[in-house]
Amino acid sequence: MLKTYPDVSGQYLINGEWKKSDNVKEVINPAQLTDVVGEVALCSQEEVRSSIDIAEKKFKEWSRTSVHERSNMMKKAAEKLSETIEQHVPLFVRENGKTIVEAKKDLLRCVEVMKGGADTLLDWWNPSFIDSNEKQVVQTRKRPRGVTAIISPWNSPMILTFKRAIPALLAGNTIIIKPATNCPLTVLSTFRIIASVFPPGTINILTGSGAMIGKELSQEKRVRTIAFTGSTETGKNIIDMSASTVKKLHLELGGNDPALVLSDAELDSDFIKRMTMGVLRSTGQVCSAIKRIYVHESKYEELVEKLKKEFERIVVGNGMQPDTTIGPLNNKEQYDFVHELLEDSNKSGAHIETLGQKLDDDSWEEGYFMLPSLVTNINHDSKLVRAEQFGPIIPIISYNNLEDAIDMANDTIFGLKASVWTSDKGKAEQIADKLEAGAVFHNNHTIFQDLNIDFPGIKESGLSRETLCGGLDLFTDSYGFAN
Ligand code: NAD
Repeated sequence: MLKTYPDVSGQYLINGEWKKSDNVKEVINPAQLTDVVGEVALCSQEEVRSSIDIAEKKFKEWSRTSVHERSNMMKKAAEKLSETIEQHVPLFVRENGKTIVEAKKDLLRCVEVMKGGADTLLDWWNPSFIDSNEKQVVQTRKRPRGVTAIISPWNSPMILTFKRAIPALLAGNTIIIKPATNCPLTVLSTFRIIASVFPPGTINILTGSGAMIGKELSQEKRVRTIAFTGSTETGKNIIDMSASTVKKLHLELGGNDPALVLSDAELDSDFIKRMTMGVLRSTGQVCSAIKRIYVHESKYEELVEKLKKEFERIVVGNGMQPDTTIGPLNNKEQYDFVHELLEDSNKSGAHIETLGQKLDDDSWEEGYFMLPSLVTNINHDSKLVRAEQFGPIIPIISYNNLEDAIDMANDTIFGLKASVWTSDKGKAEQIADKLEAGAVFHNNHTIFQDLNIDFPGIKESGLSRETLCGGLDLFTDSYGFAN
């Protein structure tokens, strides 16, 4: 069979040169395991070190360009990229498993980050003046920090790379991107277009072993910032490895988001649709998906019945097919893990209701497809409730005392997002004050639509806050200037 790999297959970028590696791994389509989408280079330690050398060397020049130059380059790159969205959608779907609609939305948001960042930069960069007495005028000014590493996960590889890489670059840092090994090709292909607009060496991209590349980047003192999105376990590892170099860390980690449904919630069809999408968008492989539902006992049966009906309408299949509501799980490890959680729930006596429809019976075994399940009669201490399942299965637990439900919601190492479902907005605000989460949604469990707004996780879900068009603050040092 003729292999039609994308141009960037097996490639990585150092100093403006796209190099091809002989040491590669296949990138597999999770919806059709015989479909090899392309190859990912397994970069060596020498290549990591050489990218750090280059990024450091180029930093002096790049950091001294004007904000106007950087903003204009970004606008030009955004224009070029926006012309290629349609051609990138199938590549993204094939390597990730998302649906066409999800993939396109993500890619469009990447362009939005670029344009929004380029616009925001100009005013944002201006010094601000602090009220001072007549003896001294004090300004707060900004400067870029230096070599910046962006490490991203497979579940939302595009937007999570762009939300860090674009502001880092705009702020005058040189960057080294390390995308996830399962799903690197759309990142590489889109950055091939972006990098063509910027001076060689400002953008570098390495692929391969997260453990080796992560260690090199973390332990290297010339890497001044790491923006990492991924699991809490890897995040802790990066904290350990980078301790001796006192670098700035921005960590966006795992989550186990609770949804609290109160006795006065009105379970109409919009409510049920929003809750279903809160659980199942991207097949549940979203850091801030609803991962546990606590519902007042008076609404328990009604909620379960209505969710059952809605889950029954979900069509699982290849994301390229327009009738698909959710695609496959992205990789075998994740597929096995979610099945283990179901098996464990089953053994512990939980009731599992597997729902939804297969788009295509014949090709079902050819991908990591999984029908969505509602899991009831389950204990708060079970593995499914405790772990971050990252899959299309949801435990539902009833409560009779709201304070107990809040305690259960908070009884986790994570603190990413949460939601309160009630017809009383005031009550939702009061409960939000008691929930340990970076953000709380009322009658929804979603994202902030405006890219300037985000509230990353607390507790073991994250470190450092991102504001203003995805983090210009994060990638600069502000300093005082007095005269
Ligand atoms: P992961 O931690 O396994 O990998 C993330 C990235 O880190 C990959 O590029 C990987 O190659 C690299 N890596 C692996 N070992 C490393 C090491 N020792 N040092 C440095 N880098 C290393 O995570 P994943 O499985 O790709 O992604 C899923 C996880 O990401 C889930 O826990 C999810 O909740 C989390 N996530 C969080 C957010 C957020 O905004 N909080 C967003 C998306 C995903």
